[in-house]
Amino acid sequence: MPIDHRLTPEHEELRRTVEEFAHEVVAPKIGEFYENHEFPYEIVREMGRMGLFGLPFPESYGGMGGDYLALGIALEELARVDSSVAITLEAGVSLGAMPVYRFGTEEQKREWLPRMCSGEILGAFGLTEPECGSDAGGTRTTARLDEDTDEWVVNGTKCFITNSGTDITGLVTVTAVTGRKPDGRPEISTVIVPSGTPGFTVAPAYSKVGWNASDTRELSFADVRVPKANLLGEEGRGYAQFLRILDEGRIAISALATGLAQGCVDESVAYAKSRTAFGRPIGDNQAIQFKLADMEMRAHTARIAWRDAASRLLHGEPFKKEAALAKLYSSEIAVTNAREATQIHGGYGFMNEYPVARMWRDSKILEIGEGTSEVQRMLIARELGLAAG
Ligand SMILES: Cc1cc2nc3c(=O)[nH]c(=O)nc-3n(C[C@H](O)[C@H](O)[C@H](O)COP(=O)(O)OP(=O)(O)OC[C@H]3O[C@@H](n4cnc5c(N)ncnc54)[C@H](O)[C@@H]3O)c2cc1C
Repeated sequence: MPIDHRLTPEHEELRRTVEEFAHEVVAPKIGEFYENHEFPYEIVREMGRMGLFGLPFPESYGGMGGDYLALGIALEELARVDSSVAITLEAGVSLGAMPVYRFGTEEQKREWLPRMCSGEILGAFGLTEPECGSDAGGTRTTARLDEDTDEWVVNGTKCFITNSGTDITGLVTVTAVTGRKPDGRPEISTVIVPSGTPGFTVAPAYSKVGWNASDTRELSFADVRVPKANLLGEEGRGYAQFLRILDEGRIAISALATGLAQGCVDESVAYAKSRTAFGRPIGDNQAIQFKLADMEMRAHTARIAWRDAASRLLHGEPFKKEAALAKLYSSEIAVTNAREATQIHGGYGFMNEYPVARMWRDSKILEIGEGTSEVQRMLIARELGLAAG
């Protein structure tokens, strides 16, 4: 099937609106939030007002009635300018609200989605634990059903959870072992834990290399009790659910990585035209021009890759391999473009006041989060019919 590489007028209008927002609202303010390691509530509120958190959800749940392509377009345009706000949107939509939309009961959707779509509250996705990330099936957190009170009792620790400790965080969906399968393997389910539930504690924000205006926390659950009705989807389907959520999430991360890679081109072309050395703009040198041409080629190819995966998802076709290819490629080229952009900026590229310095610091996590590059290669190899390594 051909790749839909042209945007509809609606998608193009969305792209322009978010591009303008990123340049006029995000760009002037984000550097200060980033340096102070502060969550940019005012920017996030504005993103909520624009409907960005509701982009791929139906209007009946307070969404914009768009699709995953629309979400990718918004993420790419935001990340061209800043990745902290882009990951706040990505995690809020793909990891926070999407599990409720995909697997929740009608009651759960009505309770949570309208507020998540408006940006009034953020949802978080608690999968990773101190002892297991790539091997998420190794979850140690448990949820035991107390038959007397009809409540789940959750115990365990989750780490590196995005959007989980802001003033507007409303819930965390937590994967937990709820029993054993007949073959002895753990049965994993997903439980909704609202913020503020007694026994649920949120650690202070981590000190990170990048994404410094995004919220990332360790979470502890000590005999946390939530109603039986907070089970998300079927009992024992938690593993399948998070695989689906991560498959989709990889398209979103790929769009974000493409934006960062394109932002590196934007910044570097402008700098190469204005910076002079040896009596002429550095961009007049073929060595610099070739770097820029290669950077543009990589960003362009990454864009085609994520849009192809999104298009397959929208057409109800298998997209697992294409999502992994897009995520792997775009995250690795984002790191390459950020390194080259810094080089083109010379010493100024090492100064945090220049956006490319922020882009360099923000790029590395893209090869790690939502499945490392090694995990993507494992998935692609499996899709090629090779035995699980
Ligand atoms: C800023 C940030 C935000 C995050 N947000 C979230 C979130 O919102 N929710 C959430 O649940 N998680 C989140 N994560 C966690 C992230 O998804 C994990 O860090 C990631 O999946 C890797 O897991 P790990 O850190 O345990 O590394 P490990 O799994 O311990 O891997 C360590 C290294 O070993 C490699 N490796 C592991 N197994 C193999 C193998 N079989 N073959 C070859 N190489 C292998 C890995 O690729 C990696 O290079 C976030 C992480 C960060 C840093």
